[in-house]
Amino acid sequence: MAKKTVISAKEKKRVAAIYALLEKTYPDAACTLDFRSPLELLIMTILAAQCTDARVNIVCEELFKKYKTVDDFADAPPGTLEKAIHACGFYNQKARSIRQSCTMLREEYDSKVPENMEDLLRLPGVGRKIANAVLGECFHQPAVVVDTHCKRVSNRLGFTRNTDPTKIEMDLQKLWPEEQWTMFSQYMVHHGRAYCQARSPKCLECPLYDLCPWPEKTPRLHES
Ligand code: SF4
Repeated sequence: MAKKTVISAKEKKRVAAIYALLEKTYPDAACTLDFRSPLELLIMTILAAQCTDARVNIVCEELFKKYKTVDDFADAPPGTLEKAIHACGFYNQKARSIRQSCTMLREEYDSKVPENMEDLLRLPGVGRKIANAVLGECFHQPAVVVDTHCKRVSNRLGFTRNTDPTKIEMDLQKLWPEEQWTMFSQYMVHHGRAYCQARSPKCLECPLYDLCPWPEKTPRLHES
């Protein structure tokens, strides 16, 4: 039988304090992809792999003028979709995922993006990160999105010791009530960009400094 994780009262207090500080630091935190429908977010999250959200927003501003429906993507003639998403990188693979996913949506889901994890994971090119983003942002379901920022920042803050995204997701789910999962995911992205960058994090300016156990964080002068 799996051993149940017990979180100490002290750790619960630290985790709650971090959430409160993140809430205060990023009062306007929101998804950084400009989507208007579940289909748009699905396409954008497929395009966002190995690409910045800013670039995806620029590419999709034009893309969504031409491609508006599941049929538009599923029936895109060879080469056209690839050209339209070229700037996002890995365009052949991403175009294939989009075409195949939209074909499946049309044939099996009445051209609608499903509202549950199991069905979303059936779509080609869709993993838990994309599925959680769609469930949390579009359908307001509890969902922890483990992207590169969440992975790095959560490890540094001591929320997980895992590197596998699914295990990280499970670890993070134990720390907060479900209604905080989606916002927590967004805070991780914002904090990863603003302070806790992969290289040269701004530890001395970070509002979470006193609560962060990362052994490699920059020491304060009087501590060194
Ligand atoms: S103190 Fe440094 S490592 Fe810790 S969360 Fe802040 S920026 Fe990241």
